[in-house]
Amino acid sequence: MSERLEIAGRALERSLCNHCLGRLFATVSRGLSNVQRGTIVRFASDCGAPLAAPNDCTVCRGLFSEVQKFAEMAMSASAPYEHANFLVGTKIDPEVSEAEEQFWVDIGARETESIKSELNREIGKVVEATIGKPAEFAKPDIVLLIDTMFDRVVVDVAPVFVYGRYRKHSRGIPQTHWPCRECRGKGCPRCAGKGVMYETSVQGLIGPVVMRHAGGDEEAFHGMGREDIDALMLGNGRPFVVEVSRPRKRSLDYKAIEREINDSAGGTVDVAEMRRSSRAEVRGIKNADYPKTYRVRVRFQADFDHRKLNDIVRVLDEKPISQLTPHRVAHRRANLERTRIIHRVEIESAEALEAVLVIKAASGTYIKELVHGDDGRTKPSVAEIVGVPCDVVELDVIRIGDKEA
Ligand SMILES: [Zn+2]
Ligand SMILES: [Zn+2]
Repeated sequence: MSERLEIAGRALERSLCNHCLGRLFATVSRGLSNVQRGTIVRFASDCGAPLAAPNDCTVCRGLFSEVQKFAEMAMSASAPYEHANFLVGTKIDPEVSEAEEQFWVDIGARETESIKSELNREIGKVVEATIGKPAEFAKPDIVLLIDTMFDRVVVDVAPVFVYGRYRKHSRGIPQTHWPCRECRGKGCPRCAGKGVMYETSVQGLIGPVVMRHAGGDEEAFHGMGREDIDALMLGNGRPFVVEVSRPRKRSLDYKAIEREINDSAGGTVDVAEMRRSSRAEVRGIKNADYPKTYRVRVRFQADFDHRKLNDIVRVLDEKPISQLTPHRVAHRRANLERTRIIHRVEIESAEALEAVLVIKAASGTYIKELVHGDDGRTKPSVAEIVGVPCDVVELDVIRIGDKEA
């Protein structure tokens, strides 16, 4: 203890408030505030140094007398944003922080806490007590960044994430907003001034409704993969998460959002299972590699022996296939050979030149190429097995394999 008293004695040669005195011994004992520590140390050191008036403290220069004011500024700045918890951060004059560290060196204090750290906590305590919500360090809904030099508060609002599954019952709708290729969204003759390639998108039907409910600034749409513009998305629907930045509202009426989307989409798209989501779930959705089941309408270029359809099942069912990067995407993807498992093939119907196949395949399988063979780049293929060139007329996703029911 005597060494600590010597440090205290050297410290008290300067004018200090009890916060700044106590903080020199912040790690010594738990369960005390720095003010309490400062009071005890001042008494024990018995050197008769008077307690500095707040503004005369040579370390904090009165910052701790402004805790209530900072807390009130922070609370009024955060009022528009619904939050279940919060975190306080402060920006302190670097000159003050540097002087504090020099002071520690000068007097040999090594059990210290910084002004910033105590100030964050003290402001946090006032906010906590006033609004009745806890401080949260790991994933706060909002961060209140208080600039103590200029008396300004910046509110950093965590985005809100909303999960759902969508189905698409109409062809010609892209999954995401697709800016016009010519004008990149400015508006030009090609897009009739609209700035987009397609009037609607799945994102365009869902995102703005979620945005309106959450009162945010911007939305982003994260789908678990995507289907072609001309493919339907049926069955159990495709998982997605809408991310809304700077939401004013976080507790949302998901049933009302679903109803609104389903009513306004007029049957082209519908959504279900909407609920709160998280950034971690977005990562899961982005990296998902579940099998998918497709219904594929195939047209053959010439008559063929329908008994050969059984060969398709025999050759492909539960078998691996090899795919070189398709011609149609070769300009933007590396040319690689991939092996993909075809989990199941069923012949749903066949007549004259057409057959309808149901194919369950590993994530990342190029289904159109599996059908027409892509000039031998996919092996085996439906065309190769039947011995007649063929093409995909319609391709719909009927199940995403992230859950079975
Ligand atoms: Zn002080
Ligand atoms: Zn345009």
